[in-house]
Amino acid sequence: MESGGGRRRVVVVGGGIGGSLLAKTIQFNADLTLIDPKEYLELTWASLRNMVEPSFADRSVINHRDYLTNGRIVTSAAINITDTEVLTADGCHIVYDYLVIATGHTDPVPVTKVERLHQYEEENKKIQSAQSVLIVGGGPSGVELAGEIATDFPGKKVTLVHKGPRLLEFIGTKASDKSLGWLRSKKVEVKLEQAIDLNSTSDENRVYRTSTGESIEADCRFLCVAKPLATAWLGETILKTNLDKNGRLMVDEHLRVKGRSNIFAIGDITDIPELKQGYIAHKHALVVCKNLNLLMSGGKESKMTKYKPGSAIAMVSLGRKEAVAQFPFTTLSGRVPGLLKSRDLFVGRTRKQMGLQP
Ligand SMILES: Cc1cc2nc3c(=O)[nH]c(=O)nc-3n(C[C@H](O)[C@H](O)[C@H](O)COP(=O)(O)OP(=O)(O)OC[C@H]3O[C@@H](n4cnc5c(N)ncnc54)[C@H](O)[C@@H]3O)c2cc1C
Repeated sequence: MESGGGRRRVVVVGGGIGGSLLAKTIQFNADLTLIDPKEYLELTWASLRNMVEPSFADRSVINHRDYLTNGRIVTSAAINITDTEVLTADGCHIVYDYLVIATGHTDPVPVTKVERLHQYEEENKKIQSAQSVLIVGGGPSGVELAGEIATDFPGKKVTLVHKGPRLLEFIGTKASDKSLGWLRSKKVEVKLEQAIDLNSTSDENRVYRTSTGESIEADCRFLCVAKPLATAWLGETILKTNLDKNGRLMVDEHLRVKGRSNIFAIGDITDIPELKQGYIAHKHALVVCKNLNLLMSGGKESKMTKYKPGSAIAMVSLGRKEAVAQFPFTTLSGRVPGLLKSRDLFVGRTRKQMGLQP
């Protein structure tokens, strides 16, 4: 089971918020391989700021090689696993002693950082040259994008269409109401309980029809709907019976996939009933890191650290200075939560955690 240097082979599948921190933290204690279809870690929560200020992306899109100095990086998607190996789309077979699955959500982004930065430049040009912008989807991405555009480009007409009865349905109604009030105060037109059939309109004719028959004119549009979980690839693997009906991996209190002694899962793909947040994926990563270190050094399974879900906090930025934040006993909006998130969007803090200059 041991590799060349006597160290155990740890394979991390998914270089997002959780997988990268785990890989970075364990790299000197294991023979590590990180598998990710792109060459970089993207701090998801900065992506909307990157669209209005593309230079911001230089710090929030981080090449894996910058923080992973002692591990192998395979730039490809995992497509199958066996009891001993991970198979990737480009034909690699990567042997593991311990496997951690952290594939979060599917996001068809470019492979290289340079291409990703270019994409942000292009999106920015689209916004700059438009008089009117349509945003489809009132989850965190849609609300944050509307907030960014309304703040940086107050002269542009922004319309946000959401098919549900309220914005930010993943958190409480107070947060929804506060963000709706804020957006409307910035002249964003918010239309709830309406859907847009994007197939019925082309970008050229600029008129979008909603499910209730309204017409919206917009020079450009952005689709901000929830991305699917990236677990479909596990559907025909040895873990197919470990997926719940929502496609999440069922884990035990040590974050091991149920019934498996050497396979862990972390982040948004786990079936733990809690808010799916990046700071929680980080907590998962650190618990799994402790457990891997214990097991790799021959410690007893009974000594493994248990993961205990904490109280849920969610913050949605509203432009550069304000935000809405849901804490366990209260929901706040305005400049106070804005001070916590909206200026730097946790980019400096996360970079420091990854061992990089803030
Ligand atoms: C607009 C917005 C704002 C947010 N704001 C916050 C916030 O303020 N604070 C907070 O804590 N959270 C926030 N979140 C939530 C946070 O982004 C997620 O909870 C977090 O990204 C989950 O991390 P993860 O590691 O589970 O998955 P992800 O970060 O989604 O990473 C998954 C990784 O797996 C890779 N992958 C996918 N399929 C495969 C495959 N087959 N093989 C190999 N690799 C694969 C992907 O390329 C990606 O690198 C926000 C989310 C959004 C959308």
